[in-house]
Amino acid sequence: MDRPATARGWVRSARGNKYVQFIHINDGSTIKNIQAVADTNKFDEETLKRAGATGACIEVKGILVQSQGKGQSIEILAEEITILGDCDPEEYPLQKRGQDSKDKKPVTLPLEFLREKAHLRTRTNTFGAIFRIRHHMSFAIHKFFNDRNFFNLHTPIITGSDAEGAGEMFRVTTLDLHNLPKTPEGKIDFEQDFFGKETNLTVSGQLEGELGAMGLGRIYTFGPTFRAENSNTPRHLAEFWMIEPEVAFYDINDNMNLAEDMLKYLVNYALSHCKDDLQFLNDTYDQELIARLESVVDRPFTRVSYTQGIEILLGAMTSRKFEYKPEWGKDLQKEHENYLVEHFNGPVFVTNYPKDIKAFYMKLNDDGTTVRAMDILFPWIGEIIGGSQREEDHDKLYRRVKEMEIPEESLWWYLETRKFGACEHSGFGLGFERLMLFVTGMTNIRDVIPFPRTPKNAEF
Ligand code: ATP
Ligand code: MN
Repeated sequence: MDRPATARGWVRSARGNKYVQFIHINDGSTIKNIQAVADTNKFDEETLKRAGATGACIEVKGILVQSQGKGQSIEILAEEITILGDCDPEEYPLQKRGQDSKDKKPVTLPLEFLREKAHLRTRTNTFGAIFRIRHHMSFAIHKFFNDRNFFNLHTPIITGSDAEGAGEMFRVTTLDLHNLPKTPEGKIDFEQDFFGKETNLTVSGQLEGELGAMGLGRIYTFGPTFRAENSNTPRHLAEFWMIEPEVAFYDINDNMNLAEDMLKYLVNYALSHCKDDLQFLNDTYDQELIARLESVVDRPFTRVSYTQGIEILLGAMTSRKFEYKPEWGKDLQKEHENYLVEHFNGPVFVTNYPKDIKAFYMKLNDDGTTVRAMDILFPWIGEIIGGSQREEDHDKLYRRVKEMEIPEESLWWYLETRKFGACEHSGFGLGFERLMLFVTGMTNIRDVIPFPRTPKNAEF
């Protein structure tokens, strides 16, 4: 067993006595530290002091042996210690101050505090765990789709159209804001802008995704999206990542099956590939995390129509106070979503929403008032997925564009696909960070993306 080994990483903690110093090093590859054991006779005091500073980056060469102590199976007997980067304990903000006296658990720094230290927080157990899980989820998404013969399509980040018609977009321009060119009518002359027209950062890759599906059959996008919505909530970011499959010949039921399979696959993947990190988060933050993850993978998601949903909510009003009264024709509020998830004790699909509260591209039902939309409400999160069957009938789609006063000239290419070999197709959008909230049990979306972008916050 004994063999020479080198460990490089950042010091998490150190303790010891006159004879020996134990240094816990972590290189980020796992939640588990490796313990280096330094015989104080072999090293000068200065080296041991620098190597024992939390946050320092060191290299230890020595012999890997079965550990004598509790808490680890192997350790490294140090023969050579090199300080790669010193860390001043007086200044290092992530220095842990003592232990919680009652349960001897190490003190975890508050998440709000660590948000202000986003340049250093990947060094903590918590964010190491979260960002490793984030990687595995990202990889699993590509694997899920690749295994099912989907192609990854890269849709543009700069766009001339507003997919949702919601107008919450970040403008992209190279015009001099202090000296804007004007048209004879006194308006800003966007013809002089970089693209010769108004452009923004995309809010969704869907419209271009549909173009891909109309030739490649099954595609998915996985890219950043941007929304200048001023909603400072624990569930919204101004920059977030979205997974958007778009599939030819799929109707809304195929679409729901795909979404349900995907979510179960991803949660299962986390349970089997991120055990140690999930266990750490479960023990540290949320003792129900793993049980909650297991609960969504082993039974079918409930499927109800929006109209049934409203009936359930109205029926609940005898025993439950809602701040907003549920009403047919109005969007479901967070409290309504939570109630439905509780009522069915698990994930719920809500389908067939009134057309007036949904996007123009959703397929109109025969009743003329509802569209073939499907949202998935998740425990802990609320809406995690929004999707629909798409309107493939040119004239119906065109009528919606007109009714909703969407500038037709920015969408001519989208409309034109409905003239040349249109077919039934469907897709949805999964917010990657909403998935991450569910999988990690974190309660604030700022803690599941390395460098969050929110109103008044783009520091790192
Ligand atoms: P919400 O009602 O929660 O704002 P939405 O209806 O605006 O969501 P969609 O436009 O359908 O959401 O986007 C698809 C998915 O993207 C959502 O189901 C959600 O998972 C995610 N999402 C939407 N907006 C944000 C945001 N600002 N930050 C993070 N994820 C988001
Ligand atoms: Mn929104």
